Amino acid sequence: MTQKVHNVVIVGTGPAGLTAAIYTARASLSPVIYAGLLHGGQLTTTTEVENWPGSEHGVMGPKLMQDMTAQAERFGTEIVYDTITKVDFSGPIKKLWTDSEEIHAKAVIISTGATAKTMKLENEAQLMGRGLSTCATCDGFFYKNKKVLVIGGGDSAMEEATYLSKLCSEVILVHRRDVFKASPIMVDRAKANKKIQFKVPFHVAKLVHDETGVTGAILENSETGATEEVKVDGIFYAIGHIPNSGVFLPYVETDENNYIKVHEFTKTKTPGIFAAGDIADPTFRQAITAAGMGCQAAIQVQHYLEGLEG
Ligand SMILES: Cc1cc2nc3c(=O)[nH]c(=O)nc-3n(C[C@H](O)[C@H](O)[C@H](O)COP(=O)(O)OP(=O)(O)OC[C@H]3O[C@@H](n4cnc5c(N)ncnc54)[C@H](O)[C@@H]3O)c2cc1C
Repeated sequence: MTQKVHNVVIVGTGPAGLTAAIYTARASLSPVIYAGLLHGGQLTTTTEVENWPGSEHGVMGPKLMQDMTAQAERFGTEIVYDTITKVDFSGPIKKLWTDSEEIHAKAVIISTGATAKTMKLENEAQLMGRGLSTCATCDGFFYKNKKVLVIGGGDSAMEEATYLSKLCSEVILVHRRDVFKASPIMVDRAKANKKIQFKVPFHVAKLVHDETGVTGAILENSETGATEEVKVDGIFYAIGHIPNSGVFLPYVETDENNYIKVHEFTKTKTPGIFAAGDIADPTFRQAITAAGMGCQAAIQVQHYLEGLEG
């Protein structure tokens, strides 16, 4: 039996992948999209999304992704609930594998997202979206005039603490060491901010909560082991992200943090391989920017395939 060659295979069903699916399906390219372990992507792990345009009163993350999935399917997208474990993009026909099949395509859109690093504390999964967050831009507004805690010592922790200080009554920045990975200018700016209190060298040893969500944290001094409890309304992890790019090496170039490097919008270094969303975006990491890149990748795939036809 000859192997079917798809026009385009999309890897990942977050906002980037599903937007790419909607556009390529409507362009009659019959896309096939692989969902991986988290169909719908990161937004399925949150509650209310208030910054997605078009939903005046917000929309629940899982509902938004369910609607995007239905929209992609309506135009003929084939969704496969499996994970891509290996690829070979060396030839003109791109090859991908799951544990049970080999897939061939003329073009591939990588939209595998990035996973926020967490501290793997007890009850973390249950408290995510209930006082625990990995994104100040996304969730900061829910803590207006409230007291929050930010964990981290890099540039993003300083940035998130500074951003939250504009909304919240008080921000405690907890870092396990008294030296910072963040650039001195970012640290100085945060230190000069009267609303930000630095708590170093401390780490969060335990999340304190009631039935509604986070109410505080037990902080442990990293040098002495002494503990103390702080009461806060929200806790933000700002300890980095892990882009899900490993399986695509060496066919894509990555930066020092493993984000896929793109040029001319979503092109990777390999012709026919495009990357969209958080996987290629260390800066914004928002649903709307991921969807925007998904649209760009879809149109670039269209142009790429037209070029192949001559
Ligand atoms: C708790 C939380 C709340 C958030 N709130 C907001 C918000 O309010 N507003 C906002 O704009 N943004 C928010 N974000 C950020 C937003 O979710 C992301 O920016 C967005 O989901 C990125 O979309 P994406 O398509 O690039 O990737 P993701 O959503 O990360 O999706 C990645 C997809 O790739 C799949 N995948 C990974 N590896 C493989 C593989 N090997 N094979 C097949 N599939 C694979 C995964 O299963 C998943 O389907 C939030 C994020 C989190 C974690």
